[in-house]
Amino acid sequence: MATAERDYYELLGVQRGASDAEIKKAFRKLARELHPDVSEEPDAPERFKEVAQAYEVLSNAESRKLYDQYGHAGLKRGGFTPTDFDLGNLGDIFSAFFGDDLFGRATRGAGRGGDAAVRVQIELADAYAGVQRTVELDVAAACDRCGGDGAEPGTTPVTCPTCGGTGRVQQVSRSVFGEFVRTGACPGCSGSGRVIETPCERCEGQGRTIGPKTLEVEIPAGIHDGQQIRLRGEGHAGANGGPAGDVYVEVLVSRDERFERDGNDILAQVDLTIVQAALGDTVSVPTLDGDVELEFEPGTQPGEVRVLRGKGMPVLQRYGRGDQRVLVNVSVPRRVNDEQRRLLEQFEQGSDEETYRRDEGFFEKLRSALR
Ligand SMILES: [Zn+2]
Ligand SMILES: [Zn+2]
Repeated sequence: MATAERDYYELLGVQRGASDAEIKKAFRKLARELHPDVSEEPDAPERFKEVAQAYEVLSNAESRKLYDQYGHAGLKRGGFTPTDFDLGNLGDIFSAFFGDDLFGRATRGAGRGGDAAVRVQIELADAYAGVQRTVELDVAAACDRCGGDGAEPGTTPVTCPTCGGTGRVQQVSRSVFGEFVRTGACPGCSGSGRVIETPCERCEGQGRTIGPKTLEVEIPAGIHDGQQIRLRGEGHAGANGGPAGDVYVEVLVSRDERFERDGNDILAQVDLTIVQAALGDTVSVPTLDGDVELEFEPGTQPGEVRVLRGKGMPVLQRYGRGDQRVLVNVSVPRRVNDEQRRLLEQFEQGSDEETYRRDEGFFEKLRSALR
């Protein structure tokens, strides 16, 4: 039996009010130092046991409460006996505590690498024409020192001593509630049957290193704001030769103050003066394909809509284009000088019903323009 009477908080080097995360962190750190595979100190195994017991008690809310209130005696009265860990089976202990290999050096089974995401901002004009962009992101790549197997060059992974290479173990966990036995993936090797004794210096046995990656992205014409482009196999490298993940490029399309996008259609507004609207004129209207000259008839009304067929956005990954609809606004003078006032009043006096008579079928025309 380990000496059971030392203060558990003192053993872990944490305050009495330490959070669960602080306790876990402290134990992880001590376990790394005291692990019998690592430490040369002769008393390391014994100290490791004590620290593991302290962690066992303090990481459980019930036993921690008992210990806080009544100390070691409280734990005994409460029927809680800290596990007398078998140092020959440390992999299982770590797995029970961390669900994972403490040293991050077990080889894992071949697994697909994770996906990565990156954003790119483009102009509406770029979305109209399609554009190529360069993006940079950090992804995990196979370590170039060890070639991805995690073993220092000149060494090779060896058969896992915990499972003898089978990749599976019976796990026994003891707690206040009794003993649980289950068969699962070996925690010493995560099921691969092999472990790395001499981890690669560069990747610390992970087989992968994180580094910047530059990618060219073809952004197709017609892309919509918020759409994602998947670049297959450009994401994080897989473990042990597994396939790499993908990169998702989210495309954000900036607003263009001249236009409003409505699906594949483009909406724009043209401002005519009251004189241009009354007498007719030819004015320049912007489209994503350059300016076009539009002729307006005498008597053009505000609210009229001119449809420019095929001047809208390309339809993504299909043939065809949307339309551009141009809404007519008539600007009414906000300030007039004396001379202009006199002329407008004179104009008004010379006006009659005929001046403002509505054309037959005005609404029909408007409706057909709006489709
Ligand atoms: Zn490496
Ligand atoms: Zn194993």
